[in-house]
Amino acid sequence: MLYRIYAVIPILDVKLKAQSEVNIGLVGHVDHGKTTLTKALSGVWTDRHSEEIKRGISIRLGYADCTFYKCPKCSEPDCYCTSEKCPKCGSEAKFLRKVSFVDSPGHESLMAVMLSGAALMDGALLVIAANEQCPQPQTEEHLLALDILNVKNIVIAQNKIDLVPREKAVENYNQIKKFLKGTVAENAPIVPIAANCGANIDLLIKTIEETIPTSKRDEKKSPLMYVARSFDINKPGAKIDGLKGGVFGGSLLRGKLNVGDEIELRPGVKKGSTYKPITTKITSLNASSQKVESVYPGGLIGIGTNLDPSLTKSDSICGNVVGLKNQLPNVYEKIRVEIHLFEKTVGEKSKENIKGLEKNEALMLSVGSAVTIGLLTDLKKKEFTLKIPVCTEVGQRIAISRRFGVRWHLIGYGIIAE
Ligand code: GDP
Ligand code: MG
Ligand code: ZN
Repeated sequence: MLYRIYAVIPILDVKLKAQSEVNIGLVGHVDHGKTTLTKALSGVWTDRHSEEIKRGISIRLGYADCTFYKCPKCSEPDCYCTSEKCPKCGSEAKFLRKVSFVDSPGHESLMAVMLSGAALMDGALLVIAANEQCPQPQTEEHLLALDILNVKNIVIAQNKIDLVPREKAVENYNQIKKFLKGTVAENAPIVPIAANCGANIDLLIKTIEETIPTSKRDEKKSPLMYVARSFDINKPGAKIDGLKGGVFGGSLLRGKLNVGDEIELRPGVKKGSTYKPITTKITSLNASSQKVESVYPGGLIGIGTNLDPSLTKSDSICGNVVGLKNQLPNVYEKIRVEIHLFEKTVGEKSKENIKGLEKNEALMLSVGSAVTIGLLTDLKKKEFTLKIPVCTEVGQRIAISRRFGVRWHLIGYGIIAE
């Protein structure tokens, strides 16, 4: 009997460990070191797109998984690491948890992408470069985005500490403290690091473990997933009978999905002048580069389907919501929103008062991982007519951005009303 129990434990263990259990965002101003830190933690360089390499900035959301371990032998200081063997003493380290990182672009023109990523984050690392004045515009705008989308567990990574003398680092630390006062991250721990040479990453992992817990989610509820990436994984010129179906990635907010499930994507794809939901079957599931039979809320997952791969190419179904057939929330072409505007503008160096909304003004609304333009067609009822319909529920929080010149900046948040 005893031997049977032992036989079962390792299998369960593997199942539990296959998928990351938490999504941690990397946010902050452009060039402060988010992608470098993602690499230091996970070994993965997430800037892959040719345009990203050419311009040296992140444009899309980047994803990378890693596993946190702690050495049972090293103490004072404790040794936290991302390898099975302790880098200090060589002992076998203890598994803590698997983590997915969502690396956001920090460029001011890419707020929409950052906001879609924030919809998936359980917690975030706000990366602030020690060799620049704090706050830079997107340091502030990203922190505000975390706040309005309810990402409350935040660690500050004070990066590039190698570039400044000690007294400059202290001065920058004090600026950070002053900036955080009165924000959601007022009490967030600040960890000095140098991402490019891996300095203090162990302390950062320890701080993440203490500050960003795995969220409690309901696996028993009907599944709901946000799509954040989608692909056609076939090589150009692949033969029709060897074609693989459409693939997409994202995170489950609740429930569980299995290989073989009949799923639906809402609002679906554009057909003529309207959007039509699409249904398909899950043919494969992937978590942390492993094939799995079921996926759960938490870290990033990939779903293989029977869909025509041309439907999913180049992120074309991002923002869709996925669930079991006929079990998803409704799709709306018009939404009523309880609106909360900030007092002052963020995202630019200069601060101005935010003007009230105008009838027929076009605003950018971020609803989950979806981005749409809403025309404020009824100012009194606060009703928007949407360019792309959204699958949403009453009570959902959305981010509201307004166009300033060629950029969209956050001006407030809303709550979907009946
Ligand atoms: P992101 O825009 O926030 O993703 O920033 P990147 O990770 O692309 O980094 C921007 C630049 O800063 C790159 O040239 C990095 O090599 C450099 N960098 C990142 N972290 C550090 C660090 O800790 N020290 C130094 N000296 N340079 C760094
Ligand atoms: Mg980057
Ligand atoms: Zn050790």
